[in-house]
Amino acid sequence: MDVIVIGGGIVGVATAYQLRAAGHRVCVVERHATVAQGATYGHGGIVLPTPLDAWFGPTFMDARRGARSGVVYRPGLNSSARRFARQLSRLQAPEAFREQWLRLRPLVELSREVIASIAGGFHLDFEQRAGLLHVVRDPREWEQAQSAFDLLREFEMHHHVLSAAECAELEHSVPAEPSFAGGALFEHEYTANCPLFTKLVKQVLDEQGDVQFLFGRAVDAIRLEGHRAAVELAPAEGQRESKREVDVMSCDAIVVAAGAGSIALLERFGLSLPLHAVRMLALTAPIAYEECAPHLTVVDSARRVSMTRMNQRIRVAGAAVLQSERELAKPLAEPLAEAGSALLAQATHDWIPGAAKISAAHAWEGVRLLSPDGLPCVGGTAHPRLFANFGHGPAGWGLACGSAKVVADLISGAAPLVPPETLAALRVERFAN
Ligand SMILES: Cc1cc2nc3c(=O)[nH]c(=O)nc-3n(C[C@H](O)[C@H](O)[C@H](O)COP(=O)(O)OP(=O)(O)OC[C@H]3O[C@@H](n4cnc5c(N)ncnc54)[C@H](O)[C@@H]3O)c2cc1C
Repeated sequence: MDVIVIGGGIVGVATAYQLRAAGHRVCVVERHATVAQGATYGHGGIVLPTPLDAWFGPTFMDARRGARSGVVYRPGLNSSARRFARQLSRLQAPEAFREQWLRLRPLVELSREVIASIAGGFHLDFEQRAGLLHVVRDPREWEQAQSAFDLLREFEMHHHVLSAAECAELEHSVPAEPSFAGGALFEHEYTANCPLFTKLVKQVLDEQGDVQFLFGRAVDAIRLEGHRAAVELAPAEGQRESKREVDVMSCDAIVVAAGAGSIALLERFGLSLPLHAVRMLALTAPIAYEECAPHLTVVDSARRVSMTRMNQRIRVAGAAVLQSERELAKPLAEPLAEAGSALLAQATHDWIPGAAKISAAHAWEGVRLLSPDGLPCVGGTAHPRLFANFGHGPAGWGLACGSAKVVADLISGAAPLVPPETLAALRVERFAN
């Protein structure tokens, strides 16, 4: 089949990879000049989520905890942003959290296998670094996180629960004072460089053939008429609006993998979804003192700030800024950017003091798309030629590889390697009820 994939982030490139592997001809349409320029560019490095850093659950989106929740919470009077936060916060209840994690888990495990097979199969080096140390400051937050620890035990996910003293002994950059509640070590989980991985997979595709990349072109609209599928392209830069005919590309199937841009595309097509884009910040700072730099990736679990060493830099990512759609379309206001950067700088100061030269940090912000039930939108839609692969939230890096396999299997008429309950929970149509 001829398949058009809209979006050249990790999700679009991983989808193109799986489609080609299944024997399809693929065209990836990306509005930027190359791949990995959207949310994929500034990721925090954590490859796969555990119950402790899933983007829903016991400690996430707790507005009552203010900046301690890691969210710069400014929905203003916008009702959709408020409704969205309220829906996500329902998943703080242990039973609701457990149910949703049960649905997501098979996708996490499939993703683990797929990344390992791509990385191993092509001997890719994308700055993989083993070992994550989650730390929790406050005894109340530790208490709240117990339902996540219960899931780790229930599914026998390899980890060690540690006291504060054990954390400090294990990771020399984490100070034992002031005291904190404790932590968890995931020695087999790892961080890596997501944009580098995306570019390496693109290189593999370039060498293999059958995947075309159309850069610098945005998809304006999706057309689905009976047995036909097509995309309308916006004019390329320099192309005069008045003289042009609409560029239309036909295909057998379309995969929407346009990250935060997916919602607008589907809305124009008449499909309105309750997903919400959330801005997130990242600081990339040079190492200040090598002797203070962490060996492990340190994650402030309750604030969801990750501090990842990437060669001679530390990437500090987190600080979700919750705003209305209208505010999201504008550049981030200075006070909010400052509040977000201060939150990241404070986490660095608290957990890995002296490791990163924050005053010389490069600040970056990206937008990621979250669904109100925490799960991505992956799979078929009401139209047999339209497929979804977006809304992976803060965990799109690794999940992209598994969800790409699911979509490619569905397009090929093969049985996806996740259970039917997971498949049903990921479908876009779940929001129709
Ligand atoms: C600061 C930050 C830290 C993060 N940390 C982590 C982490 O540690 N671990 C993790 O797993 N995830 C993390 N994430 C989330 C992860 O980066 C995203 O989930 C993932 O990159 C999403 O990939 P994507 O391909 O869907 O989106 P994107 O990378 O945004 O790609 C979508 C692409 O579609 C293109 N596009 C959009 N509309 C159109 C159109 N109409 N026509 C053509 N092209 C279009 C865009 O230009 C873009 O390139 C983080 C995100 C941020 C912002």
